[in-house]
Amino acid sequence: MAQRPGFPIKLDQKTTVKPAKVAVVSSPAINPLGLGLDSSAVRRRMVEKLAAQGLKDPMVLQAMGTVERHRFVESALVNQAYEDTSLPIGLGQTISKPNVVARMMELLREGATGKLGRVLEIGTGCGYQAAVLSHIATEVYSIERLKGLHEKARANLRHFRLPNVHLLFGDGMLGYPKGAPYAAIISAAGGENLPQAWLDQLAVGGRLVAPTVTANGQQALMVVDKTAQGFKQSVLEAVHFVPLKSGIS
Ligand code: SAH
Repeated sequence: MAQRPGFPIKLDQKTTVKPAKVAVVSSPAINPLGLGLDSSAVRRRMVEKLAAQGLKDPMVLQAMGTVERHRFVESALVNQAYEDTSLPIGLGQTISKPNVVARMMELLREGATGKLGRVLEIGTGCGYQAAVLSHIATEVYSIERLKGLHEKARANLRHFRLPNVHLLFGDGMLGYPKGAPYAAIISAAGGENLPQAWLDQLAVGGRLVAPTVTANGQQALMVVDKTAQGFKQSVLEAVHFVPLKSGIS
């Protein structure tokens, strides 16, 4: 297997005692937060992998290469932040794997030219996907039902200063009528049915992407287009998202 540098980079002991190498440690490429490595190189590799997996929307790949995923996970998981794996974010919830985040963004943007308009995200979680969305949409409204995660996302996102991301604490099954109509709605949690509020709050010409339980009892990605003639629904690949729950906690 090809040798990949870990993240954060691990210096062996011999390296740290050699003065010549110590100079490398203090180079500007080293992350001042002590995370070790200039993470853009690791992200670039992640994006290359996404492209190799068939993801191709340049705006989405650019966004995935920009957002520092390692800032959204616990320090013990930083090493895995750019692996194609979902990771725990606390309170029994998970951040989706990069491939799934990118796939959903591509579906949202399919056929769009330029950035999307207002987007509603259900399930802010740690705030990672909201940060990615902020690069492909003009405004992002993101709702979380767990206070602890809503606050965590707020803390995580502070660093990025994204004026177009609006974090809301509430039950996302009700949508967020004040921001409607939305060019796109994306859910990071899967329910039995698509809430009527989402369909109502979607703009004509807009698209909804959400994991939903299908007839065979399994979760699949559901894409719904709202047209002047009505809704057009497609069921795509099987997925595994945390459950969509009603109410706040
Ligand atoms: N996009 C998130 C993924 C979080 S996991 C990220 O990047 O981290 C899905 C989230 O959906 C969980 O935090 C869960 O609490 C939340 N959720 C589930 N049902 C919800 C609802 N009705 N309203 C708002 N959030 C909900």
